[in-house]
Amino acid sequence: MTKSDAGSERRCVACRSSLPKQDMLRLIVDDEGQIWPDLLHKLPGRGLYLCMEAECLSGMSDRRLQPLRAKFKVDFPQWTLLKERLHVILHKQLLQMFTRLRVKTEIGRDAVMHRLWNNAPMLLLVASDAGDAVVRQIESAVEKREQAGHRSRLLSVGSKQWLGEMLGREDVAVAALGTSGMMATNVRKLHQFCVWYGQLKAIG
Ligand SMILES: [Zn+2]
Repeated sequence: MTKSDAGSERRCVACRSSLPKQDMLRLIVDDEGQIWPDLLHKLPGRGLYLCMEAECLSGMSDRRLQPLRAKFKVDFPQWTLLKERLHVILHKQLLQMFTRLRVKTEIGRDAVMHRLWNNAPMLLLVASDAGDAVVRQIESAVEKREQAGHRSRLLSVGSKQWLGEMLGREDVAVAALGTSGMMATNVRKLHQFCVWYGQLKAIG
């Protein structure tokens, strides 16, 4: 992990690893001792940080959150609740972000393939059940692009149905978003939240 700004690093409350805080999930504790996710780092109160790495999440439990009991007056047990809250909030936030970015999004294989001829850096979202043929076609186009020096990132997301829901369509196997210019920050956040959503799904 790169340490771009040492001053803004935080320690994960679960695994104790340090990361730049913008790469971490911020949490806050309310007056009733409930932990809430603060995706946009905007809620008032003292923040706690969770790294959201796959390994850390798979080892998460109420016991790992136990040290927060004294320090933050956290009510227990809390991990299952927090997981549910995070799931709901991430889903809602992603839906909002996808809706906002929809006019800038290429949807479906033909549109994405066409867009791949363009040189701009790109984030490609491929549904986990997109099918081997689609995945192969996209991967090979991305490879050719890379050989020509044009960057793209490929991210496996939820099902076609999930990606469709996010984009206001039926089923969507693949979608592409430009990552340059004004949209860069938004797309980076979207990428991060998609990854987190996937990690959460993976631990069930
Ligand atoms: Zn961690």
